[in-house]
This record gives sequence, structure tokens and C-alpha cells, in this order.
Amino acid sequence: MIAIYPGSFDPITLGHLDIIERGCRLFERVIVVVMPNPKKTPLFAVPERVELIRLSTSHLSNIEVDSFEGLTVNYAQMRQAQVLLRGLRAISDFEAELQMAHTNETLATQIDTVFLATSNEYSFLSSSVVKEIARFGGPVDHLVPQHVARAIYRCYEIHPAATLTKTNPTTPVKPPRLGR
Ligand code: ADP
Repeated sequence: MIAIYPGSFDPITLGHLDIIERGCRLFERVIVVVMPNPKKTPLFAVPERVELIRLSTSHLSNIEVDSFEGLTVNYAQMRQAQVLLRGLRAISDFEAELQMAHTNETLATQIDTVFLATSNEYSFLSSSVVKEIARFGGPVDHLVPQHVARAIYRCYEIHPAATLTKTNPTTPVKPPRLGR
């Protein structure tokens, strides 16, 4: 059975990775598909997000990473996938996810949405939380794969060790608290 895991992944977090790894144990093949979300202003361009996911999932053999703009069910049909994989964190996710699953069912009855409950340790984690922390100079190394953290620090011009800004190298920014 082939599962599609669609999302904006801006950027991939350890919460996403947990769902991907568990999905790879359950399904023959998981296709992670990056979809632009017109409601959100992105930090990373779609090809960058694809690359970050590829680097984060290089240890998995039954995975593919792709991008698509359009209806998820159209992509799933094109790839002959039977399942849409989604993660559920809290009740707040539930309403929108259920609505989306029902909507997709009206568009393609042969495709089912399968929800995986978040692992406890990642129940608070979202790409937005990561960006919010990084924007104010905080550390995100414990929330995303290492190369993703580096890419985020580059975006916000934060150096996790040196803690100096590029614009004014003599002015230290608030040092990020490293470690957990
Ligand atoms: P979207 O904009 O489509 O919600 P996201 O990248 O935010 O895309 O999320 C993609 C999917 O991953 C969604 O189903 C979301 O609920 C799930 N997800 C995100 N973070 C976590 C997490 N920490 N634990 C479990 N599932 C998660």
C-alpha cells in the first residue's frame, strides 16, 4: 500500500520525521509531498523544503520526496496511492483534519485518510513554533534535524555558538540556550 504524506513542511520538524518513520514501518512506500500553503508566508522555498526532507530521511529506504501544487487527491490518484497520511497533535488539529478528510472523501472515495497520533514528546511541536523561537534568537537544535537547524540559523542570520549578528558583528544577540 502506498501512502502520501502531504504538508507544507516549512521546515520539516522532528514531529514530522516521527510520523514519516512510523509511516514507513506501516506502508510499503511513503511519498512525502510538499505543497505550497497559500495561507502561510513561507520561510523556505518549496525546492529547499524538499531538499531538507531528503537529507532528513536518507536513512529510510521506502520513501520518496516530491512537491505538487493542486488537489492532494489528484496527486494521490496520479501516484496510485490508497492512503493520505496525516498527523494529529491535539484537539485543535482534529476539527480541520476531519473536515479535510471528509472533503477529500467526497473527491475520491477510494482514498482513505489515516491519522497517526503524535508521539508525546512532539505533541507541542510545529514548524511555526520552530520559526517563532528562531526568529527571536532561540535554539531549535532539539526540535528539528541538525542540517535543518543550520539552514534556519542561516535564514535568521543566527550563529548558535558565536551569537553575533552579521549586520553588527560587535553587538551580541541574546545567546541561545543550547541543550535541553
Ligand atoms: P499543513 O500546512 O498541511 O498542516 P504541516 O507541515 O504543518 O502541513 O503538517 C503536515 C502534517 O503533519 C499535518 O497532518 C500535521 O498535523 C502533521 N504534524 C505536524 N507536526 C506534527 C507533530 N509534531 N506530531 C505529529 N504530527 C504533526
